[in-house]
Amino acid sequence: MKVPMLDLHAQYDPLLDDIRAAIGNVFKTHKYIMGPEVREFEEKVASDLGIAHAVACSSGTDALVLAIKALGIGEGDEVITTPFTFFATASSIWRNNARPRFVDIGYRSFNLDPSLIEAAITPQTKAIMPVHLFGQCCDMTAIMEIARMHNLYVIEDNAQGIGSTWDGRMSCSFGDIGTLSFFPSKNLGAMGDAGMCLTNDDELANSLRQLRLHGENPKYYHKWVGLNSRMDTVQAAILKVKYDHLAAWSEARRANAAYYDQHLAGIPQILTPHIDPRAVSCYNQYTLICEDRDGLLKHLKEHDIGCAVYYPLPLHLQECFKELEYKEGDMPNSELLAGKVLSIPIYPELTDAQKEYVCQTIKSYYL
Ligand SMILES: *Cc1c(COP(=O)(O)O)cnc(C)c1O
Repeated sequence: MKVPMLDLHAQYDPLLDDIRAAIGNVFKTHKYIMGPEVREFEEKVASDLGIAHAVACSSGTDALVLAIKALGIGEGDEVITTPFTFFATASSIWRNNARPRFVDIGYRSFNLDPSLIEAAITPQTKAIMPVHLFGQCCDMTAIMEIARMHNLYVIEDNAQGIGSTWDGRMSCSFGDIGTLSFFPSKNLGAMGDAGMCLTNDDELANSLRQLRLHGENPKYYHKWVGLNSRMDTVQAAILKVKYDHLAAWSEARRANAAYYDQHLAGIPQILTPHIDPRAVSCYNQYTLICEDRDGLLKHLKEHDIGCAVYYPLPLHLQECFKELEYKEGDMPNSELLAGKVLSIPIYPELTDAQKEYVCQTIKSYYL
């Protein structure tokens, strides 16, 4: 048996007719840039998530770059974030000439540890950028409280957490701006790069719309140096079709997680994900903490089971950030987990036989 990390054939096969029709519709207008589908997709997401404004853009990375720009954060400013995340979280800060200030994560949540945030606040701090890693929300109660007390902006990097909730409230609705990625391996994936900013603030929404269009308004008059960062009409058309399946896909991911939770519970060498009772995860990843991780990884690959390490080197130790002068030992949980985490297939179309095979193969390694 083969179990890939993600099965895009299984995801797309039932949708091919609808997606072909949606792409066909774009030929009717030939409006490849900012065609009507972009606005339609924005409205669909905003109303479904219950957030006032959605601003589609060209990637999850650019969504973060735009969010930071729209808040006026730049040279001389600091943004507090996690080192245990995808690179774009910190690069988006750097590319705005601001500095990431890393704060370690909780060992079981993989997310920013709110109890460590206040010690990292300086007079230069402008924002906190929590990442809802693997689809589980950060402790937004604590983070919003700290932000209010210290008058800081909050940007939720929700690239992995579309539709997840904290304390009954939707991710992306807590901070000043929340961002999404539609990279093909995210819970809602485009057929290429795409992303989005969400905000309840009318003025920020206007700034974001302007910044993704070279900062121009009216046409050929530039208040800011913005980006060329629009979502392709074709991607919006595809995402609009796929969005209707997202809730069912997230349910299927949760059911797969429940299966793994139950069937991997008795293995002393691994810890299954711990989800806070206040959080509903959308499980972009199902990530184990394992003893002898590299041995298990090799064993799974030998048995045709896809798996991956997210992420092997925390961002505070990346070469490109060496002038920030972090060193090994600064972020103990992130560093320890980088050597212990392994994500296993959790995509919605997994069959019962595949899940059983994954669990048996992990058991056969340890027991
Ligand atoms: C995927 C991802 C991004 C970047 O999204 P792209 O669409 O690939 O540019 C940013 N942050 C996190 C946490 C991600 O997982």
